[in-house]
Amino acid sequence: VSTLRRVQPVILVHGGAGARAPELAARAAAIERALGEALRRGGAALDRGGDALDAAQAAVMCMEDEADFLNAGRGSVLCSDGGVEMSASLMRGRDRAAGAMALLRTSRSPIAGARAVLERSPHVLLAGPAADALADAAGIEQRPPAYFITERQQRRLVQDGRGTVGAVALDGAGGLAAATSTGGARGQAAGRIGDSPLIGAGTWADGRVAVSCTGDGEAFIRAAAAHQLAGRVVAGEALAAAAAATLDDVASLGARGGLIALGADGAVAMPFSAEAMARGVWRAGAEVEVHAA
Ligand code: ASP
Repeated sequence: VSTLRRVQPVILVHGGAGARAPELAARAAAIERALGEALRRGGAALDRGGDALDAAQAAVMCMEDEADFLNAGRGSVLCSDGGVEMSASLMRGRDRAAGAMALLRTSRSPIAGARAVLERSPHVLLAGPAADALADAAGIEQRPPAYFITERQQRRLVQDGRGTVGAVALDGAGGLAAATSTGGARGQAAGRIGDSPLIGAGTWADGRVAVSCTGDGEAFIRAAAAHQLAGRVVAGEALAAAAAATLDDVASLGARGGLIALGADGAVAMPFSAEAMARGVWRAGAEVEVHAA
């Protein structure tokens, strides 16, 4: 008989927070389909007894492959120079192992790149061509930079620049993990790094809580948002209160966004201060629940 406390596995995903753009209604069903698919992919990993890190990564990889509606991997927003620069990070709560990559231009799955840093490198964050090279050496598919640039983004058919993706998971052994992947902010300067690949800003997981953020990245960095939420939980705040207070602090810096947070006891919070946030939840044995806005 295992002495491990068995808990009911949970996974949450987000598909970015931002303005309620006019085209949102037309693409709501497609966004919900993409989030539902990501939840089922991550949930299947948890059902098989997989750990939270594998599940969060699987859900994010699924959303990175969605090219029309989400701002990660192919179909990311464009920098002011017309190129795509992608970033991602992930963290395992049990031992706070973390990996991140920024300014990727050729790696098909930035979150797989972040996992390669966690597994294969003594470092936490690698950026630029050397990061793409490590991803290549780790067997992550490389594509020419033009592959990531979609006509929809070039013609700005997607009016709001949102669609960063993230996942947080709780596995049956009580382990937590968080993962976030993005093309950044529309029109960003080449070389700009937002909160998504920064541990403690856009992504955090420890023994008590896992967090993935989306929104105006500069403010989430200045608020140390993901870690701020974790610190509030350590200080005794309930998860929902800690999540709301963190977004209030981000708002005090003049910015909006949202986050998904999961506690080791299965508590869930998915607040947003932006007009809309795509999000969803999967629990073992239950139907997935998704909202495009
Ligand atoms: N937080 C992301 C960034 O600033 C953008 C987003 O979540 O929409 O890079």
